[in-house]
Amino acid sequence: MEIKVIASPKPTYMELYIDGTSYHLLNALRRAILTEVPTLAVHDVIIHMNTSVLYDEELALRLSLIPLKVDPKDIDVLGKCRNIERLDLSELTDCTARLRLKKKNTTKDKIITVYAKDLEPIDKKSVRPVYENIPIVKLGPGQEVDIEIIAKVGKGKDHAKWMPVSTLGYKPLPILRVTDTTKCQDCNYCVEACPKGVLKKEDDTPTLSGIALYLCDLDRICVRACPHKVLDLLESENQFILRIESVGQHSVIDIINAAIDILSEKYLDFSKELQSKIRDLKEA
Ligand code: SF4
Repeated sequence: MEIKVIASPKPTYMELYIDGTSYHLLNALRRAILTEVPTLAVHDVIIHMNTSVLYDEELALRLSLIPLKVDPKDIDVLGKCRNIERLDLSELTDCTARLRLKKKNTTKDKIITVYAKDLEPIDKKSVRPVYENIPIVKLGPGQEVDIEIIAKVGKGKDHAKWMPVSTLGYKPLPILRVTDTTKCQDCNYCVEACPKGVLKKEDDTPTLSGIALYLCDLDRICVRACPHKVLDLLESENQFILRIESVGQHSVIDIINAAIDILSEKYLDFSKELQSKIRDLKEA
């Protein structure tokens, strides 16, 4: 397998070229990232006071979608809390954090905005929103909110608020073929039809090469534009481009590594269970 980093402008975004894998492996990785890699998110809210224009439920919903980050010394999200389903009640507090949102507009004539940065950690002091300038609610003169919050480590399979990524997808590289070169006339219809302008003629043959392989979005407009029906566009089964963008709680590298560890654990569990059943069968 060959992997090249195409772009990684920041720790939360990466594009990879992968040669020598398959849809099945990449999809297993994608699903493990979406559903199994845990993050910390607001789970319970106790509203002591809310005189803002937002309903309590709407406030709770907004709070739950604020991505939170925490120092692993306070909450080991990708370590100990990765198997939160297997922890007993006494250990669960290691994977939760308490916060408070308390704000009152004491001005006489101004409207103020409550932001994510106004969240105050109570027990685990390193818990902070990933982005401090997310607006939560506006308060008119005299209005206030006082909310107690319990954040918990969870997984995307239970709720999208725990998903660690905002973008995650892969696309196969295109394979363009002229099925009958004798019929491929000098008409240029396919080249002119390509909305991305990436299809070029090389030696009188429509060709995708270099950056065009990356930019082609496999919409097959060129194939449909060919009046002689001799153009074919296939999807590679072992060359892919993977794009992944973290919401910000973990770096992309940490997310991929955690997903691989989780998948390995699952396959090991599966293998052990299978071996024990085979042993039982032999002994019966
Ligand atoms: S599939 Fe679409 S983007 Fe790709 S070469 Fe053909 S027309 Fe252009």
